[in-house]
Amino acid sequence: MNYDKTKYRAWKWYHPVMLHWMVNPGLVINELMLGQRVPKLTLIEKNPAKSLPEKTVIPCPHCGTMHSGLKWSARNNAFKNWFGLYCDQCGETIPCLWNITSLVILALTFPLWIGFKNSWKSSWLQKQPMRYENLNLENAVNSLEGYGWVKMGISWGFFMYIIMTFVFPWLSGDAIVLKKALIAIPIWATGGLAFGYTMKLVNGKNGRDRKGV
Ligand SMILES: [Zn+2]
Repeated sequence: MNYDKTKYRAWKWYHPVMLHWMVNPGLVINELMLGQRVPKLTLIEKNPAKSLPEKTVIPCPHCGTMHSGLKWSARNNAFKNWFGLYCDQCGETIPCLWNITSLVILALTFPLWIGFKNSWKSSWLQKQPMRYENLNLENAVNSLEGYGWVKMGISWGFFMYIIMTFVFPWLSGDAIVLKKALIAIPIWATGGLAFGYTMKLVNGKNGRDRKGV
């Protein structure tokens, strides 16, 4: 879609934040269970006076509305966007990227969900307008500042470690092997830190708030 290249920088699939979204297998939980989605095109306003969340603009390719990215911040509609980001101007959905592991899971489970997809989507669409009625577009205090992202990344990595190393094998009846469990620790610690750092980049620096602190 067309946008003012003098005013915005574009983040497309090859931007590191987007690549990480596509390749980190743990994000399957965010995407398929929580319905957290990343649009195919994110625009960042070239305005050094604003923090990244305030500069983030998500254009709707259907009607051209330039939405504030804050509509999909954690305090607003970050989750439950399984069918894409809903445009409250035209009622269409803004196309999103897919995590590769999500795609594999969707492909393997295709016969289970394809029959329900249309009715799920129409009931989801019906619920969307009211989710966009009382949004709070003030920029929230960023809990990922300082070392907040490390804490968040490690707890996410720990959660994923438990799920992937113990819960999933237990559910599928596989043996839990000590060696595998040990190898998984540095893998999920690294994955967690990468996730925390990416979320920090996505949420941006929020050091100076409106009170000038
Ligand atoms: Zn639209």
